[in-house]
Amino acid sequence: MLSKNDIVTVTIEDMNADGMGVGIFQDQSTGKACGFVLFIKDTVIGDTVEAKVVKLKKSYGYARLQKILVPSKSRVPAKCPVARQCGGCQLQEMEYGEQLAFKQKKVKNNLLRLGGLSEENGDYIMHPIAGMENPYYYRNKAQFPVGAGTDGSVRIGFYAGRTHNIIDNTDCCIGHPANRAILESIRTWIKDNALAPYNEQSGTGLIRHILIRTGFATKEIGVCLVINAPALPQKAATQFISVLRSIDGISSIMLNINTQRTNVILGDTCSLLWGKPYIEDCIGSIRYRISPLSFYQVNPVQTKKMYDTVLTYAQLTGKETVWDLYCGIGTISLYLAKSAARVYGVEVVPSAVENAKENAKLNGISNAEFILGKAEEVVTSFGSNIPHPDVVVVDPPRKGCDASLLNTILSLEPERIVYVSCDSATLARDMKLLKGSGKHMVRDVQCFDNFCQGVHVECVVLMSRVEGK
Ligand code: SAH
Repeated sequence: MLSKNDIVTVTIEDMNADGMGVGIFQDQSTGKACGFVLFIKDTVIGDTVEAKVVKLKKSYGYARLQKILVPSKSRVPAKCPVARQCGGCQLQEMEYGEQLAFKQKKVKNNLLRLGGLSEENGDYIMHPIAGMENPYYYRNKAQFPVGAGTDGSVRIGFYAGRTHNIIDNTDCCIGHPANRAILESIRTWIKDNALAPYNEQSGTGLIRHILIRTGFATKEIGVCLVINAPALPQKAATQFISVLRSIDGISSIMLNINTQRTNVILGDTCSLLWGKPYIEDCIGSIRYRISPLSFYQVNPVQTKKMYDTVLTYAQLTGKETVWDLYCGIGTISLYLAKSAARVYGVEVVPSAVENAKENAKLNGISNAEFILGKAEEVVTSFGSNIPHPDVVVVDPPRKGCDASLLNTILSLEPERIVYVSCDSATLARDMKLLKGSGKHMVRDVQCFDNFCQGVHVECVVLMSRVEGK
């Protein structure tokens, strides 16, 4: 049997949800697989590697990559020099076409294993995953922690995977190319003003995080500085504004106050330093106003494809009432509104609901209404607040939908349910419940690669009423 520090040779057969290679340890003496699973970071499906066992559990363990003995055919050099330390792009060493195949297979497996749905049995049609032409520099949002190096330098970059050590890197190859110049200017400004980077251990220091958001369509850039104090020193604030204003595209400079000793990046209060308290961006013909605290999809190119699919699956003729549950700043609601009679968006974050209402006005849309509250609670008041839905769209966070919400939706018998998901495991669980009544069937599944180089995958699923039921 295996012991800690053993050096083993394994072939990587799969990848787990965290992007670690999965190898089945073979007993060297018998050559037989003894079913012991080893998770090995920085490996790619098809690699044969030498690895050192670092942690053992009853039926699985973790090993550290020592040497790649036979590289996988799908192995490529990482574009980013700190890809392995950073851990944000778990798949960067896998050829892009293989990344897409891996993600589609992951969704298919989850639908089978957790949802009891088989593509082969005709339970649904899986369309080819929509990938990106250029799977780099696609993110419109990045949050960079700031800290001090042991040598007193100012570090700006990313937390090393599973730690809170900051790897200095202002040139992330999935972020917007404009980020680098902004971050380097802020680094110089921190030094010039002798400002202290935040220290997580002691809770001291001033500068915590830098949040940058870019409207890909509008070219507007918003910078939000997160500090551990009620305000910046006056002189430093003036300089901060003048340094950033000189950078092309910056239209919003904000300050966020976070004096809590917590891992949460943003505090509740934002104040405007210069420009507008939001940036704007467009998906298709709809314009959105996005403030630092609002949720907004991070990959605008893919989001357009995703929302177009939601629109296609919703099959709107202009007569329908649509519910858009978990609506955020109303992105999907407004995207559908022009093709529907009425849209009702439900969202739990008050500022997002405010943004959604503003966004409706900004686009001259008067048939969309937004309701603040938990989707599972708001829909039970159906009838008094919102009329019967023909189409229900849900776009929940990773944990998926509340079972009570799904049961309420089923009891209302909408014609179509369009499920937008960022976690195919909870999607599959929810599909199982939804198809359980026999009144709705899963029809189409379309995956989107919104997180190129990372392990996550987005899906849009259409369910519709079974005729005669
Ligand atoms: N459809 C939007 C937002 C999706 S993210 C878009 O594409 O931009 C999921 C959203 O669900 C977040 O805005 C989150 O605040 C919200 N949310 C989380 N739990 C909720 C709940 N129980 N009820 C309603 N909204 C919820």
